[in-house]
Amino acid sequence: MQDTAHLSLAEHGAYTMLLDHYYGSEKPLPNDNTALFRICRAFTQDEQTAVMNVADSFFPVNGDGCRHNKRADKEIERRHSVGQSRAKAGKSAAKSRWGEGELRGLTRSERLAEARIKGTHTDEEWEAMLLIHDNKCSKCGCDCIGAPCKDHITPIVLGGSDSIDNIQPMCRNCNSKKGSDTTDHRRKDWENALQNALQNSPLMPRHTTSTSTTTSTSTTTTPKSPQGGSERFDEFWEVYPKKMAKKSALTKWKRKGLDKMADQLIADVKNRIENDDQWSGGFIPHPTTYINGERWNDEISKRRQQPSPSPTGNAFLDL
Ligand SMILES: [Zn+2]
Repeated sequence: MQDTAHLSLAEHGAYTMLLDHYYGSEKPLPNDNTALFRICRAFTQDEQTAVMNVADSFFPVNGDGCRHNKRADKEIERRHSVGQSRAKAGKSAAKSRWGEGELRGLTRSERLAEARIKGTHTDEEWEAMLLIHDNKCSKCGCDCIGAPCKDHITPIVLGGSDSIDNIQPMCRNCNSKKGSDTTDHRRKDWENALQNALQNSPLMPRHTTSTSTTTSTSTTTTPKSPQGGSERFDEFWEVYPKKMAKKSALTKWKRKGLDKMADQLIADVKNRIENDDQWSGGFIPHPTTYINGERWNDEISKRRQQPSPSPTGNAFLDL
């Protein structure tokens, strides 16, 4: 398989679109220039030349008169056999590992671009997904240090989409052991829970009931606790070293009415960045966790500064 690194921008675009079409239809491409131009939406002479270059290099005409890509054919075949064997035995797909999928030749961001053609998700959806899993790993349930990362249930390298129904929160540990496992670990009712979370989020652009008419108790859902302001939140966010799940952090910020403590929190964050060994070692809590757990009350964690560790029992201090 030829490398795609030398391709021009137009050629790269053509390559991606042809491959996407290939996987989408699970069929070889037609040996018909006009059809190829249409697939790639190639209108100008340059674009059409790029399409033909790519088609000839990567999708040569095969015995059956269609344009084939060997790797794509293999992958499609593998998908089908994986689907069958998984239905039977569940685990027999262990052979395929990360990076062996169809999109291996592309960089991660290119693969992501590919996945986004198939579907996308909003920040709100991801934050709601985290929220309904209590910011925990959906597989092992651990309280991750920091935040769970986005795990694509069907990996992007295997043609998974980037939409929320293909994304679950997973700790880095589970994620790194994922292999070819495409099990959905999310709570069974995630779809409903997600919808509810999205609707109940004060940040969602639903009908604003900002007027202070407290007469209609039946129509408006009253928030459980009075919401504080969030004028200082951005300053806090600015200094906070881990920028994740902003909306849910903002929600907690308001709930707790932290505007009035903003100076203290900002100072605490700055102090921890400088002086907290956990933080400087990269173990920075998820901002939502920081706010929720009122972590500014935690002791600054320091490895004991002992210039001469005793030979027994302190070995862990060595680097
Ligand atoms: Zn986990």
